[in-house]
Amino acid sequence: MVDSNNCEKTEKCPIYSGILQSNEILTQTYKKLFCESGSEGKSKCKRYQVARIMGVCPPNILPNTHLTADEIIEKMKAQGL
Ligand code: SF4
Repeated sequence: MVDSNNCEKTEKCPIYSGILQSNEILTQTYKKLFCESGSEGKSKCKRYQVARIMGVCPPNILPNTHLTADEIIEKMKAQGL
């Protein structure tokens, strides 16, 4: 059963899926702060912000990257993504 408190992008999100294999503690921290903290949590996630606008987010973007969503989107467009 899907937990309504979770971000709806968890199934396809590489961060949630554990792409940061070398750092399980960081993955768990991200999940707690962003993915499993309801609307407030996911709204702070840069990956979520970008995906809402672009439909996708590059896999190398962290939820708390210093880049703004606009900056990430500009880079995506520059790379033809
Ligand atoms: S990292 Fe962001 S986009 Fe990915 S599941 Fe968590 S809140 Fe959603």
